[in-house]
Amino acid sequence: MTYVITRLCVGQKDAACWEACPVDAIHPGPDTTGFGDQPQLYIDPAECIDCSACEPVCPVEAIYPEEEIPDELRDAIAVNRDFFAAPRT
Ligand code: SF4
Repeated sequence: MTYVITRLCVGQKDAACWEACPVDAIHPGPDTTGFGDQPQLYIDPAECIDCSACEPVCPVEAIYPEEEIPDELRDAIAVNRDFFAAPRT
């Protein structure tokens, strides 16, 4: 299982989740180049250890355990996965 950031993050990028994550699985961080270019933050499914620390701190409740994502937001699984699969500079 992994946690997933849904499109509810778009335009928000509060980054409280990024602060809370103990393994730096959330990208891009607000101090990195490219932060301003991304519409939302993403969780790397290969790095997430399912600790749940990010979920309660999100001010717009954009983060779900993969199994609990509402049907209308399930596209987020591929969106997060594809962000890390794409070549990045
Ligand atoms: S569940 Fe834990 S490890 Fe996974 S992204 Fe959230 S804070 Fe990071």
